[in-house]
Amino acid sequence: MAILNILEFPDPRLRTLAKPVTEVDDSIRQLVDDMFETMYEAPGIGLAATQVNVHKRVVVMDLSEDRSAPRVFINPELETLTDDMDQYQEGCLSVPGFYENVDRPVRVKIKALDRDGKPFEEIAEGLLAVCIQHECDHLNGKLFVDYLSTLKRDRIKKKLEKQHRQQA
Ligand SMILES: [Zn+2]
Repeated sequence: MAILNILEFPDPRLRTLAKPVTEVDDSIRQLVDDMFETMYEAPGIGLAATQVNVHKRVVVMDLSEDRSAPRVFINPELETLTDDMDQYQEGCLSVPGFYENVDRPVRVKIKALDRDGKPFEEIAEGLLAVCIQHECDHLNGKLFVDYLSTLKRDRIKKKLEKQHRQQA
């Protein structure tokens, strides 16, 4: 397994539209394993392949506190099941150090393939609903900062750009 480099906002590669996985083979399972290692190391609770500069529709997630519930979503599709919205303070490994409230539908239906390429469906609420919507946004080149005001987003962008210059 390998720790992969996580792209950070405002890296333009985070805006790439990810392509569907045509076959869940060993190379995809290798990617999944590397993504888990990268996510746990960060540490984070969700990671989309886009964030590690692989533009395939693959998401990994573990919402448990003790890394006991790894979840894989390949080619995830979401259907919003309600107009009810809820606010959650979101963060992102690609926007390190910033947490902002985002409104999202509280209940969605997820259709995806698992690690073995087997299709499954699930109704998601609470943190899972928030997280899968956040990760699916990544696959479509969207970031949680896109939901914020231009002022807030620009402030975050400037701070991260400054950090990146200092690290370079
Ligand atoms: Zn994210």
